[in-house]
Amino acid sequence: MKEKILLSYGSGGKHTFEFINNFVLKYFSNDILNQLLDSAVIKISDNTKLAFSIDSYTVSPIFFPGGDIGKLSICGTINDLLCVGAKPLFISLSLIIEEGLETEVMEKIFSSIKEVSEKENVKIVTGDTKVVQKGMCDKIFITTAGIGVIENNIDLNYNKIEAGDAVIITGSIAEHGCAVLLSRGAYGFKSDIQSDCASLKGLVEKVLASNYAQYIKFMRDPTRGGVAAALNEIVNKTKGISIEIEEEKIPIKDNVKHFCDLLGFDPLNIANEGKMLMIVSPTVAEEVVKILKQYHLGKDAAIIGKVVRDEKPKVVLKTLYGTKRIVELPIAEELPRIC
Ligand code: MG
Repeated sequence: MKEKILLSYGSGGKHTFEFINNFVLKYFSNDILNQLLDSAVIKISDNTKLAFSIDSYTVSPIFFPGGDIGKLSICGTINDLLCVGAKPLFISLSLIIEEGLETEVMEKIFSSIKEVSEKENVKIVTGDTKVVQKGMCDKIFITTAGIGVIENNIDLNYNKIEAGDAVIITGSIAEHGCAVLLSRGAYGFKSDIQSDCASLKGLVEKVLASNYAQYIKFMRDPTRGGVAAALNEIVNKTKGISIEIEEEKIPIKDNVKHFCDLLGFDPLNIANEGKMLMIVSPTVAEEVVKILKQYHLGKDAAIIGKVVRDEKPKVVLKTLYGTKRIVELPIAEELPRIC
């Protein structure tokens, strides 16, 4: 580790992984934290488990095509609870506001939070407000923690994943990161790319309420660090497996692909805020995709690859040209403060 905290420690890539292993787990190691799931899973009785998750949002700009920091903070916490199969119920809302922020901006952010939390039936039940002097933070930072309940003996974890399993993505990739980068106006590039920022509650609940729920092994929302980081985390937490994905099967919108090609970004490294990766038993993968495709947020769902037995865990991409390349854990995201 370097002697000072670098921006890349918050990227969700290799440096974040090192920070967690070398600092966080060194001090706080315990059987719940060490799972490193999207939400902590806490058993409270024989048939009830709680899911508990927290995230901070520092996105810049705070308004971007397809969302804003308020919507992002609630959707992100809901999606992390969903990853462990929980029903999201309660959210806390902690605000750090820069002195001088217009109340009109605050109203817009709160309206977004109200809209998504009411629609998804999660309640904001506690919170905190701090205001710091001008220049001590950038407009507003939001921290949301969420609690959900895991029912029906759902148990999604790395240890369920085995060779042969299918890898599903619920839709097209890389939209959130590209939309935020574009909205900074730094590239002199105009595009209609919208963030995919969305709660996946309805979509995931449909799958978990289906006959195939027991065949869902694992879920992760590929946020910071994108699909590349999420899949690398999975192979690093399991033993003896690799994941192979196929470029031609990965859904990506033309405008996003065009933007990434022009700027030399790998869309696999770019953040999503309304997509879920699902590792499922191969016998039901097609059926799960059929369910997902019935809904707007899952209309582009696809099986993008599979889990294979391998002594040396890695993520491999079969390119459009038929060649194979290793997909590394990104070292740092293309720019900080994407979420
Ligand atoms: Mg997550």
